[in-house]
Amino acid sequence: MQKEYDVVIAGSGPSGAAAAKGLVNDGLSVLVLEKKKLPRYKICSGIIFRKSQDITEEYFGEIPKSAYVTPELLKGVRFWSDSENYKDYPFTKDGCGAPNVWRSEYDYFLVKNSDAEIKDCHALTGFSDKGDCVVVKVHDVLNDKVIDIKCKYLISAEGGKSIIREKLDPEFEKGLKWFTAYQNYYEGSSNLDPDFYHGFLEPQYGEVYAWFSVKNGLQIFGTAAAKGKKIKPYLLKYTELLEKRFDLKRGKMVRKSGCIGNNMCPEGKFYLGKNNTLLVGEAAGFLNAFGEGISCALSTGLFAAEAISKGIKSNNNALELYTELTKRERKETTVSWRLGARLAGRDLMPI
Ligand SMILES: Cc1cc2nc3c(=O)[nH]c(=O)nc-3n(C[C@H](O)[C@H](O)[C@H](O)COP(=O)(O)OP(=O)(O)OC[C@H]3O[C@@H](n4cnc5c(N)ncnc54)[C@H](O)[C@@H]3O)c2cc1C
Repeated sequence: MQKEYDVVIAGSGPSGAAAAKGLVNDGLSVLVLEKKKLPRYKICSGIIFRKSQDITEEYFGEIPKSAYVTPELLKGVRFWSDSENYKDYPFTKDGCGAPNVWRSEYDYFLVKNSDAEIKDCHALTGFSDKGDCVVVKVHDVLNDKVIDIKCKYLISAEGGKSIIREKLDPEFEKGLKWFTAYQNYYEGSSNLDPDFYHGFLEPQYGEVYAWFSVKNGLQIFGTAAAKGKKIKPYLLKYTELLEKRFDLKRGKMVRKSGCIGNNMCPEGKFYLGKNNTLLVGEAAGFLNAFGEGISCALSTGLFAAEAISKGIKSNNNALELYTELTKRERKETTVSWRLGARLAGRDLMPI
């Protein structure tokens, strides 16, 4: 690892990988920091929508077979308005369906193919803006050492919970509201069609919506509620529905996981950065309705790369360029929540 890079990126998810790819393509030196060991687990349904697939293929190549699970393609989402009635929304016009992947493998494929230098088990813990450069504090987790690294630009691709955003603007952070999502993975079976991703919209099963999908035979389901509110009663009721109505048989629990998200996206509260620090993907507030976030993570990562490359090469203001480049994506994200709320017949956020 060098002591100086053009750009340091915190986070190796799709937004970090896309930013890294764009910057490396433009000839800049890039370090990607990832606090976890790679390939890392990410709570997700792992559906790669058309836009994500197109960007992936254009910049990184074909999604590797090792990332796919069975069923390899999901036909669409089946939204249940109650336990008997549903409506299908196909993922693709041609009916082929969307790739169904493990995020650990897909994300690792992306970041490896960015050709940037990657340091896993290295967490960004702080930074200081010196005007003409940024000095980043990095915790080398395995050796328990703190390292200082200098860069021209810093990118936060940290996901919804961002240390960088917290430090840049504590007031903005104070105004955020949070929700908790929880997901179970069981060996077993059910009679829900595994070729669909299922969403249950009745508020008794969760405050956003409750979801179900199948990966390699695992029965994966979860729900969400406002942070501080009890999620367990929703999950119990939902599990009961799955067991009684859809004959869910639960074998061994293989994994349970949770995460938190915030109200930036549904309320159009984007935070794009300050001075020489840019935020991308969920860290900046890019997440579409029903929790689709890979497409906007990829596109905003690429926009940040373009803005920084132009900033460095032509002495332009990267943040202004990035703000301009993301205008359409911000509009689309905001519109998606409005459409989602219309489809669900209610506000989609518990907060
Ligand atoms: C239950 C659930 C299901 C979902 N299903 C889908 C789906 O099917 N399809 C879809 O498109 N989207 C889905 N999403 C949304 C999608 O997962 C996210 O929007 C997407 O991962 C955001 O990408 P990102 O790169 O911004 O952040 P992330 O993918 O969250 O990556 C952030 C990375 O940064 C690392 N990191 C954080 N802080 C630091 C630090 N200080 N230093 C170093 N590393 C750090 C983290 O360990 C992580 O690896 C789902 C989300 C949830 C919660």
